[in-house]
Amino acid sequence: MKTVAVLGGGPAGSVAAARLAQGGVKAILIDEKLAWEKPCGGGVTCKAYKEYPFLIENDTPKKLVRNSCLSEPSAGSATLEMSQPLLIYARKDLNGMLLERAAKQGADIVKSRVTAAERASDGGWNITTKQGNIHADSCIVALGARNPLRNMGAEWRDGDTMTALGYFVDSDRDHVDIRFLQGFEGYIWVFPRLGHLSVGICGKGESAQAMRARLERYMDEEGIPYKDARFYGHMLPSLEQSSWRSHRVAGDGWLAVGDSAGLVDPVTGEGIYYAVRSGDVAATSLLEHGTIESEAAYRDQLKREFIDDLTYGAHLSKRLFCESIFGASMTSRMIQLMRRSPLLTQVVEDLFAGSQNYLTLKKRLLETASGLFPDMMLRTFFPSKV
Ligand SMILES: Cc1cc2nc3c(=O)[nH]c(=O)nc-3n(C[C@H](O)[C@H](O)[C@H](O)COP(=O)(O)OP(=O)(O)OC[C@H]3O[C@@H](n4cnc5c(N)ncnc54)[C@H](O)[C@@H]3O)c2cc1C
Repeated sequence: MKTVAVLGGGPAGSVAAARLAQGGVKAILIDEKLAWEKPCGGGVTCKAYKEYPFLIENDTPKKLVRNSCLSEPSAGSATLEMSQPLLIYARKDLNGMLLERAAKQGADIVKSRVTAAERASDGGWNITTKQGNIHADSCIVALGARNPLRNMGAEWRDGDTMTALGYFVDSDRDHVDIRFLQGFEGYIWVFPRLGHLSVGICGKGESAQAMRARLERYMDEEGIPYKDARFYGHMLPSLEQSSWRSHRVAGDGWLAVGDSAGLVDPVTGEGIYYAVRSGDVAATSLLEHGTIESEAAYRDQLKREFIDDLTYGAHLSKRLFCESIFGASMTSRMIQLMRRSPLLTQVVEDLFAGSQNYLTLKKRLLETASGLFPDMMLRTFFPSKV
């Protein structure tokens, strides 16, 4: 029986290990922490749990949120009633549920730190861990954004990552808040979980200290206490448009999945769906094509499904967060228009839910809101060629 080492046990690694074990391969998943409270909003989109029902059909504590409020200081706010609700987990619970699922499918779960992965003389892999060595025929890299294996997985160039930080606050509410800030490439979020809130900020182009000050100012204004709240910080892949074309998702005998492959939506920062989907696609490629052929099969499938879309998303992200139209930021215009247009509100809801991709967004806006959007705005927002 073939052995696949799955390095990392977040959503990407757990889903890959479950699929491999289900397909009759010996899957060994190695994670230094196993189920832990990874810094995260914990939001799982409707697209994700519709495509992978095990994300919602389980007994793990979670919250389904149907309302959201988008705001920008100069534009005020607009509300969204989400017919495609957002599912929100504490990450320790989500990771625990996915690891348990992998174990039930027959994957071996090892708690240890991976320190190296090297090719073995038989063409396989020698994985060095704190607890000893593991030999495998192939290798899936699911070590997250801080993947320490320099030769495997995405390499970050300038601008390819966002800073993300925030607080877990003991409080409750029933809606999601998103706050855009003029001239800032990113946003603040308040995600209600069962029994607490994940309040955070993600973005580019500013120091973590400046972003933390922005977040605390917002929390002061909104009356959200943070003095005794647990602080968290992490990095979030957010590839620039040029980097999407050349980044490493696979190599000789290895496939990278989730954050280790840079697979995060550059506009919203959504990564859980891409982690789950890429874990599944990588495992399926190995099962169907074997180690050698799986590299090309995996790349092709990712490209077909979302690389082109996320590449265009990286371009749109700059425009949405950093450009203005008729003297105001794009995000403030979006909020003003949402208050007047149910059609635009529906488009934004679909973007939130993951059911509207970036490549067909312009077409949809033109078809549905031609009366509302002057041509000039669309031309400013979307170039004819990207
Ligand atoms: C602040 C923040 C908020 C976010 N909010 C959202 C959100 O609301 N919704 C959403 O969809 N996405 C969100 N994301 C993105 C999301 O968290 C990631 O995209 C997702 O966790 C990626 O899953 P993964 O399995 O690829 O990596 P990870 O979840 O990072 O898992 C990697 C695993 O590898 C293990 N590991 C790392 N190094 C080693 C080592 N050397 N040896 C052994 N094990 C190791 C870690 O313990 C970890 O369990 C957010 C990210 C951040 C930073």
